[in-house]
Amino acid sequence: MPITEQQIAVRLQDVEKRISLTCQTHKCSTPSLLAVSKTRTAESIRTLYSSAIKDFGENYLQEALDKQQQLTDCDIHWHFIGPIQSNKSRAVAEHFHWVHSVDRLKLAKRLSNQRPPTLPFLQICLQINIDNETSKSGFTVNEAVSAAIEISQLPNLRLRGLMCIPQKRETLAKQRQPFAKIAALLSTINHQLPGGIPKLDTLSMGMSDDIEAAIAEGATIIRIGTALFGPRQ
Ligand SMILES: *Cc1c(COP(=O)(O)O)cnc(C)c1O
Repeated sequence: MPITEQQIAVRLQDVEKRISLTCQTHKCSTPSLLAVSKTRTAESIRTLYSSAIKDFGENYLQEALDKQQQLTDCDIHWHFIGPIQSNKSRAVAEHFHWVHSVDRLKLAKRLSNQRPPTLPFLQICLQINIDNETSKSGFTVNEAVSAAIEISQLPNLRLRGLMCIPQKRETLAKQRQPFAKIAALLSTINHQLPGGIPKLDTLSMGMSDDIEAAIAEGATIIRIGTALFGPRQ
């Protein structure tokens, strides 16, 4: 059932309240809000868009392309945040502004080669497998520095930062630990990037259940689905 404007307004207000309270408490700057719209209808996206949300994140290519087709009249920035099989990389390179889920060097090279030169650079984040889970993709912390140095020099891409999806943790203090590690890794990478390469400025971290922990550790983009659209079916 499509979400009503009223429901969206209430949820958006709640999320904005959580963000501003956390920023006050921890004296940190306000991250931008990426609305994660996987499984949601184009109509629901349109509703949120009319509340001034411009950035939407999708996990499944075909589903995303279908919705893009229905929303060509909206000035949406599309972010790809799901796993990418190599045979899907061209469509991702052609149809998105950002990719948060670059999890291997080969994928970065393909996206760079396949990004149409008529479009602005594709903005990317490296996904870091921060808890070393076999079920999740991403670079390990140890691999990340050399991968970032190499990927930062590919044409047609602009490496902006790091993304992670930590395991569920119960307390704020525990939730902060993996985010603190990612923030430290970003700073390590920035110290080692070759001269002339723009510094990384993006930490894509925090979902509905750990918004506060991510912001406290310096998230610049939080990726929020459930807290905006309600539970997924
Ligand atoms: C689904 C998803 C989110 C949003 O999760 P919620 O818990 O619904 O806020 C964020 N990031 C990624 C990569 C996702 O797949």
